[in-house]
Amino acid sequence: MNYRENLERKVISLSNNKEWDMAVAEWDVVGVEEDDSSSTTCTCGKHGLKYIFTIQNTENGNFLSPIGSECINRFGRDDLRKDATAYQQYLFLLNYYKKYKYLELKSDVFSKKLLKMLFEKGAFKPTQYNKNNPRNDYEFLVSMFNKRSAISDKQQKRVNAIMVTEIVPFIRKKLEVGQQ
Ligand SMILES: [Zn+2]
Repeated sequence: MNYRENLERKVISLSNNKEWDMAVAEWDVVGVEEDDSSSTTCTCGKHGLKYIFTIQNTENGNFLSPIGSECINRFGRDDLRKDATAYQQYLFLLNYYKKYKYLELKSDVFSKKLLKMLFEKGAFKPTQYNKNNPRNDYEFLVSMFNKRSAISDKQQKRVNAIMVTEIVPFIRKKLEVGQQ
């Protein structure tokens, strides 16, 4: 069985453009699930996926799943590969919170890409503290995340407040209704 050929045939059948090199540009990562038993078969026919991605065609709305990160890499798009990684980090964040019921702005759980994804998913809420502009909180967390030196008590308090009043409620809600 030729996995690459299977993948290309499937992707092209669901894309508007019927040339592989053009068709790959039509897709976005929209979700990921974890299979602890690694018993899922990729759309290419390869068995044993642990992370099962869903991708969506931005032009015609078609979905393609299950697809593994190896096949996503075959699209040859760096942005798509990075999005897949961010989705994996997002899943890790949900599982981390589920287990520890606690979050800190540290690089073992967060990344810049993940913060951006949380912002895009609406995890940051308008509050009186961010002048009703959630982007202020998002940008604040990014600047604190990037900071190499210690942060002040005041900054730490604001980080904690954003975690407790925005990020954690968002994650709890996602965990209640199922992932993504
Ligand atoms: Zn595959």
